[in-house]
Amino acid sequence: MKKIKELLRVHHSFEENEDLLAYKFKMLNMILIVTAVFTFLFAVLSDLGINYIGPIHSKVDYAFSFSSIVLLILLRSSKVNYQLSAYGLLFIALIACTSALINVPQDEFRIIWFYLLVFAAYIITDIRGGIFITAASMVIIVTVNMFYELQLSDYAINSATLGLLFASLLFYSYTKKIDNYESSLFQKNRSLKRLASTDSLTGIMNRRCFEEMSQNYFLAARREQLPLSIMVIDLDYFKNINDNYGHKVGDEVLSDFTIVITKLLRGSDLFGRIGGEEFAILLFKTDNSGALKLAEKICTTIGQHRFPHNEKLTVSIGLGSLAEQEQTVQELFERADKALYQAKQQGRNQVYNAG
Ligand code: GH3
Ligand code: MG
Ligand code: MG
Repeated sequence: MKKIKELLRVHHSFEENEDLLAYKFKMLNMILIVTAVFTFLFAVLSDLGINYIGPIHSKVDYAFSFSSIVLLILLRSSKVNYQLSAYGLLFIALIACTSALINVPQDEFRIIWFYLLVFAAYIITDIRGGIFITAASMVIIVTVNMFYELQLSDYAINSATLGLLFASLLFYSYTKKIDNYESSLFQKNRSLKRLASTDSLTGIMNRRCFEEMSQNYFLAARREQLPLSIMVIDLDYFKNINDNYGHKVGDEVLSDFTIVITKLLRGSDLFGRIGGEEFAILLFKTDNSGALKLAEKICTTIGQHRFPHNEKLTVSIGLGSLAEQEQTVQELFERADKALYQAKQQGRNQVYNAG
């Protein structure tokens, strides 16, 4: 029982946005197992004379069963083999359906297998695969009917091909809807993620995102023994701006501040707003002396910058660089935060370096 369950499960891991692909994998896995077993049974039963389907079609069924197993192994060995495996199944199934049509004339219902094939094509591949298998099936049924005695009336052939077309159209419309639904869900998810990770006023990372990302950088730096520094920046006497010009101008100053700072940073630096007028910068692969230079540059650049209403502002900065004993980014962050407190204590407009 456990072994069967194990066989039914697909072990590849899927991303959050690969829900539909995960479902397709599961379906293809299941269909391959079912076809491998049932075509083998059909062939054996025929050879035993229980359900006779003729010597040619019984050989085709053995080949189908064997190919299904090969495709199943391919599918389970790597995620990249999905398309190969799915189209492989459709191809061999098309051959088997055609063989049934020609070689098993005693079965009046054998056209049913083409219907199942069309449904499977829409489910395990996509709209293109569904249309292709529909067209191929219709062409095969009509052409084979011209050259072989199928023991089916022309009425039966017409109903079968028309019915196949209508069934396919219904599946086409449904698959298209699901495709659209999936891509709009994906886009909504992406914009929600962006909203949840950016600060709405300044457009830079918010605290939650900064903490999450900086922990990843911190772990990478520790693992690879790379330097890493963090600085915490607080605007000095910012309350005065609000008091003198109002909250709106205060907001403009904060936005302006982030623009000035962003220009001083590299692509690999993380910049986040961690509180009202408090910001943090994580410098990856940057040691203490490099970080100190940048911190001082920030101090002088901000000191010289003219904010809205020609206001001048200064900043206090606490700086800390990755130390051996630190296990989490939080510890380093706290050290930089304490350093900021020292910078404020010592008169503001300066960098305090915690080393
Ligand atoms: P210090 O030098 O000690 O840092 O003095 P400060 O005035 O900057 O610090 P304090 O903590 O007393 O005041 C911070 C001010 O920042 C108070 C708060 O109204 C303002 N502030 C926080 N978030 C925002 C915001 O999003 N927009 C605006 N306009 N002001 C904000
Ligand atoms: Mg302040
Ligand atoms: Mg503050």
